[in-house]
Amino acid sequence: MKEKIFLCSICNINSGTCKEDCKFCSQSVRYKADIPRYKQKAIEDIIQEAKIARDNGALGFCLVTADKGLNDKTLEFVCNTAKAVNKEVPELRLIACNGTATLEQLHTLKEAGVKAYNHNLETSKEFYPQICTTHSWDERYETCQNVNKAGLILISGGIFGLGESQEDRVSMLRSLESLNPTSVPINFYHHNEALELFPNPLDVEEALDLISLTREMIPNADRIMVAGGRELMFGARQEEIFSRGANSIVIGNYLTTNGRAMSQDLQMLAALDLDVAKKVN
Ligand code: SF4
Repeated sequence: MKEKIFLCSICNINSGTCKEDCKFCSQSVRYKADIPRYKQKAIEDIIQEAKIARDNGALGFCLVTADKGLNDKTLEFVCNTAKAVNKEVPELRLIACNGTATLEQLHTLKEAGVKAYNHNLETSKEFYPQICTTHSWDERYETCQNVNKAGLILISGGIFGLGESQEDRVSMLRSLESLNPTSVPINFYHHNEALELFPNPLDVEEALDLISLTREMIPNADRIMVAGGRELMFGARQEEIFSRGANSIVIGNYLTTNGRAMSQDLQMLAALDLDVAKKVN
């Protein structure tokens, strides 16, 4: 049977307002990166983006907020947005990505029509204190456990190219596997000059090997998704990600960086004779 590729689109419904100090993140207010910053995107604009994503074959649509976690106001905004998008664009599977979340908050999102929750471990437990000092890796792991307890689909992955060792990568993948995620988004660090981190040191071969390693170490995940940094990391060799185990990609723009035109990705998949998934289990 031919492999079907799951397409997902992400929508930054609140941007650049986070007080945490994650060293890879241009959305932290601490680093003063030159990015758009706003509290709440207009719901009509979000619906419009959802329609464009659907029309380009996306099945997943992710509502992302830039903050450590949910407060009452953000939760209400995400729920209202979810209800509005579900009403206007019911073909999409709604994903929320809103940082640390309690079981109760996750139940509230589920009641509002959210089907899945994305919360990445980012890197290994051991390396995490070197990239973030304002919250702990354990909090991240606990939110992922809460997602499973709430009966939402768990989407959890991480980011490579932060200066972590190979042992850190293996450790993160082992931790991810223990959470039994349905989808594992892997990101490749996209350097912004406002950030303190050194640029991503990985070369294309190493990055492709990391996709294979992710597939090998998390065999039960339905999807290995190549998310942020794809174009920058793989350039003209992007199509090789699929033969290394990826079966999902983010189309369109990322949170604070541009992706390529959605039509280019559709053309790439057609040229590889790969079908776009039309439904998910
Ligand atoms: S908590 Fe999330 S939004 Fe905030 S700085 Fe860290 S990665 Fe960025």
